[in-house]
Amino acid sequence: MSRCIFCDIVEGKAPADIVYKDEKIIAIKDIRPQAPIHLLIIPREHIPTILDVKDYGLVGRMFEVANMLAKEMGIAEDGFRLVFNCNRGGGQAVYHLHLHLLGGRQMHWPPG
Ligand code: AMP
Ligand code: ZN
Repeated sequence: MSRCIFCDIVEGKAPADIVYKDEKIIAIKDIRPQAPIHLLIIPREHIPTILDVKDYGLVGRMFEVANMLAKEMGIAEDGFRLVFNCNRGGGQAVYHLHLHLLGGRQMHWPPG
């Protein structure tokens, strides 16, 4: 079983600002926020990338948690962005699946 910084956070062995948790998912504040609100929705299970997902229900639940947190954080009505980076070309740095929730400022397109 592979391990990583997000596994350590999930297991309480590394510090993080946890804003949500249930039996399958946690959400934390990103340590280098790229927007006033920048959360990471993370499955407890170590899944390296979106390509490795087998249970798409889990991904659906990650989106459900993201929507709930966007409403809770007060950024739902104005708008927000949800992002999965995948592999090197997609800009992925941590190889434990996570969904970025970004908001609180105007987003631009195309992303860098
Ligand atoms: P990605 O490039 O999609 O893999 O994004 C990884 C994200 O994890 C980046 O936005 C980092 O700032 C964030 N990150 C890395 N280590 C930590 C940590 N220990 N706590 C919170 N966020 C982290
Ligand atoms: Zn992991």
